[in-house]
Amino acid sequence: MSPEDRRTALAVTVVGGVVFVVLAVLLVPWDPVPGGVGNPPPADSLFSAAQIAEAEEFSRWARAWSWGSLAVSLAVACWFGFSRTGRRLVVRMPGPWWARVVLAVATLALIGRLVTLPFALLLHDHQLDYGLSTQSRGDFLLDVAKTEAIGIVVTSLALLVLVGCARRWRRAWPAVAGGVLATFVLIGSFVYPVLIEPLFNDFEPLPDGSLRSQILAIADAEGVGVDEVLVADASRRTTTLNAYVSGFGGTRRVVVYDNLVDDLPEDQALSVVAHELAHARHRDVVTGSVLGAAGTVFGVGLLGLAVGAIGRREHITMADPVVVPLVLALVAVGGLLAAPVQNTISRQIETRADVDALRVTGDPEAFIEMQRQLALRSFSDPTPPGWSQFWFGSHPTTLERVALTDAN
Ligand SMILES: [Zn+2]
Repeated sequence: MSPEDRRTALAVTVVGGVVFVVLAVLLVPWDPVPGGVGNPPPADSLFSAAQIAEAEEFSRWARAWSWGSLAVSLAVACWFGFSRTGRRLVVRMPGPWWARVVLAVATLALIGRLVTLPFALLLHDHQLDYGLSTQSRGDFLLDVAKTEAIGIVVTSLALLVLVGCARRWRRAWPAVAGGVLATFVLIGSFVYPVLIEPLFNDFEPLPDGSLRSQILAIADAEGVGVDEVLVADASRRTTTLNAYVSGFGGTRRVVVYDNLVDDLPEDQALSVVAHELAHARHRDVVTGSVLGAAGTVFGVGLLGLAVGAIGRREHITMADPVVVPLVLALVAVGGLLAAPVQNTISRQIETRADVDALRVTGDPEAFIEMQRQLALRSFSDPTPPGWSQFWFGSHPTTLERVALTDAN
């Protein structure tokens, strides 16, 4: 990589980084709790000693299998990416450059999937043991295969853009590829609810009844344009309780798990949906998507710098399909390093949605009992290790969420 080439990658990194920081400062609720966040109550004020012990036991093994899987997949990605092994594999692949890119992505993804499959099966067995999963091993493996196929398609597209742009624009590729991939992030987030979600679940409108009319009344009072709440057939997979908002504009939808509608008393279900309506009202999916797009530009710039630096020693450039294992290794490491940033932002946004839900429903008792039920139904550890919560926790802990009722 010549100094001129390095300048483009550096400029893309700086622009992506600055835009990300500016958007994060403007869009993320850094101070979501009026009067400040209170201290979380002790775990034994909400749960019995037996419940805490069971949740801790479940979480200990769930964490072991998840982190084991992460460690093995990172080690394998780095082995292929930073040694000559990956390159030797891709050099032997036949066909034009684009076919070799797709073949390389598919081969490495399948190897990564196979070496982490034991962990996925152990985790699924663990969830079966605790009654969290309602899926047979066969159905579970079918889900794994579907997820893997989607991952290969998406990763191949991204790598085709990177290598294709580098072949076409030797110097300007980080800028062009950064722009194209950022656009992909926005389009992906828009089409996800209509393209990907139906591959895993069926959705039915929430039937007429008092829950539906209360939800629509809240949406109306809060000025959220929602004319339908969808119920997902999550019970075919899990016994846990959940709800979410996805998409934006014409694809935006508020989805609740059927378990939640069937098993929670109405005031608690309403508390969950009020939280989701707050996400819709604040357009949190759009916030996440534009931050993701800016982060992608930043990442492509860094990728240009790293591939430039490592490639000069090893005589590879982004224009050559043999770069694929190196890019996948750098993306795997980068993803892990970006997780705390992503999750810190997510926890702020989740806290604001909780604060809103409490204000809108005016029912802290239902909120607390709902948080208790969500935690009990997923055996979630009320006091996870601090660094694990910081690095991987997308939501505040149950105790932190319950503490919000003091501030309101
Ligand atoms: Zn949320």
